[in-house]
Amino acid sequence: MAGERKKRLTTGFWRLLQGRAVARETSKLHAVVAAAGAREDELRELTDEQLTEAAGKLRRDDRGDYDEKDLAQLLALGREAARRTLKERPFDVQLQTAGWMLKGRVVELATGEGKTLAGAITAAGYALKGWPVHVVSVNDYLARRDAEWMGPLYALLGVTVNWISGACDPDRRREAYAAEVTYASVSEIGFDELRDHTATRVEDLVSPEPGVALVDEADSVLVDEARVPLVLAGAAAAGEPDRELPDVVRLLRAGMHYEIDDEQRNVYLTGAGAEAVERALGGIDLYSTEHVGTTLPRVNVALHAEVLLRRDVDYIVRDGKVQLINPSRGRVARLQRWPDGLQAAVEAKEALAASETGEVLDTITVQALLKRYPKVCGMTGTAIAAADQLRTFYDLQVAEVPPNVPCIRIDEPDRIYDTVVDKNAAIVEEIIEAHRTGRPVLIGTQDVAESEALAARLAEVDVPCVVLNAKNDAEEAAIVAEAGQYGRVTVSTQMAGRGTDIRLGGADGADHERVAELGGLYVIGTARHHSSRLDDQLRGRAGRQGDPGRSVFFASFGDDIVTQFAAEEPGPSDLDEHGRVTEKDKLAPHTIAHAQRVAEAEQLEVHANTWRYNQLSAQHRKMLGERRDQLLRTDKAAEELKKDSPDRYQEVLDKVGEEVLVDAARQIALLHLDRGWAEHLAMLADLREGIHLWALSRESPIAEYHRAAIPAFKALFRTSWERTIETFETAKISEDGVDLAGEGLARPTATWTYLVHENPFGSDLERSVRGLGKVLGKGARR
Ligand code: ADP
Ligand code: MG
Repeated sequence: MAGERKKRLTTGFWRLLQGRAVARETSKLHAVVAAAGAREDELRELTDEQLTEAAGKLRRDDRGDYDEKDLAQLLALGREAARRTLKERPFDVQLQTAGWMLKGRVVELATGEGKTLAGAITAAGYALKGWPVHVVSVNDYLARRDAEWMGPLYALLGVTVNWISGACDPDRRREAYAAEVTYASVSEIGFDELRDHTATRVEDLVSPEPGVALVDEADSVLVDEARVPLVLAGAAAAGEPDRELPDVVRLLRAGMHYEIDDEQRNVYLTGAGAEAVERALGGIDLYSTEHVGTTLPRVNVALHAEVLLRRDVDYIVRDGKVQLINPSRGRVARLQRWPDGLQAAVEAKEALAASETGEVLDTITVQALLKRYPKVCGMTGTAIAAADQLRTFYDLQVAEVPPNVPCIRIDEPDRIYDTVVDKNAAIVEEIIEAHRTGRPVLIGTQDVAESEALAARLAEVDVPCVVLNAKNDAEEAAIVAEAGQYGRVTVSTQMAGRGTDIRLGGADGADHERVAELGGLYVIGTARHHSSRLDDQLRGRAGRQGDPGRSVFFASFGDDIVTQFAAEEPGPSDLDEHGRVTEKDKLAPHTIAHAQRVAEAEQLEVHANTWRYNQLSAQHRKMLGERRDQLLRTDKAAEELKKDSPDRYQEVLDKVGEEVLVDAARQIALLHLDRGWAEHLAMLADLREGIHLWALSRESPIAEYHRAAIPAFKALFRTSWERTIETFETAKISEDGVDLAGEGLARPTATWTYLVHENPFGSDLERSVRGLGKVLGKGARR
């Protein structure tokens, strides 16, 4: 008891100290921004050339920190350069934001306050100190838009800038990375890093050494998407689709043949279900040694695809292909797929041709990718709520900067209904009501299916609306930019159009006054998201730069978040005639908030868990990369072969000369190292699938995972070197180099990249652990 209190007191004291330190740092930064302001008149007198020259005087190449004097000068120059080139004079809050980011912080500054500009001043500041800077954007469209938009500002400061998109070829990429500041999406940066891991010549490399990563929409990239693995795969034939199992599992009934857990994440067969499957498959025994490791997991995956993955919610079918919908963005995630088994099962369920599967050549998570940068900073409208994660997973501190003009948006309390049906009716009523006055309405839905259903209901009541889903990013941006127009109704999923400014009265702001008088943009959320941070992002679309605006969330006891995370809580106690919870029910708002907190806690848990698994792989990948780099850039392979295979070495040297020998040795060694890594990754995938057995035997899965993965990684180096010697001794080596294809050792002819939708280490892992564990448990009891 006393210990508990003492702990509380010390935490309180610690908080106080920290609070003071933050206040001190904040006032220091304010003084620097004031000093920058004091130079404004003087800098206005300079010609453009003199301004560029003044920025050049800040140049160093030691990647050091800014002292207060130089920082004030940089911010003053940035302001003046922006005023001249963009016709926008940065506000103090934008300079503060840049100042914090130059101190390595993730800054919270509300949507619409001008983070693009603050980011450009920051990036230029780092570049002048000798850092290569990557501004990490949410998508290709924004990377290009921001680089081009800020281009004149960089030019006046004498800093070079470029951008990358998915369509760029290797030469174009190298050119872009050669600029001091490069704008690119996180996936393009990652794919370049992965592809570099298969390069066999130094001149084929594309990615530079990582320096500074300035992450836009930082919480979304660093937290929400952190676990997404980026994958490079090499060609391998598509497997035969499983035509039988989908038909078998389709006949099973919930409650009788299988059960779904409360969180809708796991589905498992009951004893009766297992018997039904066994009968349908011709009287096999699913739990026999023959089937337990083969048929049973396939049944499980087929059931998962059938029951838990819903068409038009989790994925859509288009052009004969399954296209996934990203849950945090509620839109089609191009280039994404589920882990292979699940992808194949969904394709089988929809009776589509199996898509090409490949051997995974290399993979890296967004988190590991960004951890490679010695310096990371970022900006977003919602950083404070992600502060814990940013500190725990990246050792990053956040800073909060207030808006330039106070926000006057009205955030209403939730409107809570008993059922989804009543809620949906009320949402339509609310839209009709607002639309009648001409006030623009932006509705944020949970997924594409909901967007379309809502649009259909609005059409019935003659409210024309624009639906944003899964078009390309540029088109979406153009539509969202008009969401503030008089009379507009825009239906959008969570992330659609993020990064695009919504001006009242339309993109040109012509009608601003009329719309402002109506109360500005009205944002309606159709359900609470799985984190309050996502709710706040949606609300943030209204009330830009001191504009009027309003936001409200609708909720019901039938919403997924409530049934998944607060099912045991009591239902509503007092409803009006429309099925709406009345003021008298004091508990209902707490229940909704509680569900959201449980969802947030679960996300955090999954993230932490994944992090523990991924850390080891990230370390291994780094070690492998160092060895690979040595083989690629030096003559190490030849030197080692001279020691380990002296006779053959002399023979080859006499025949083809040193240059060809050195290159042949390099090609052989790289090939076997890369193959070893691909095999290692496949082994880890198997290991994860086998983890359920450890869970059953009550071993700690993570400890067991490490116990198996660490020696396997060590063996990789040994084995790949043994194979290198063997190939060196047997392969045909002529003046043209080594004939690897003749040895049946060619590299994959085609490679491609994608993002894995759900990290197998995270929820999927737990799913297979719990799901299969229960199946096996029930099987044993029969
Ligand atoms: P954020 O990324 O913070 O949501 P943006 O960078 O997209 O905001 O900018 C929002 C809008 O504010 C843009 O239209 C931009 O031109 C405008 N803007 C930014 N800074 C200024 C400024 N100092 N003065 C006037 N307008 C600005
Ligand atoms: Mg932005």
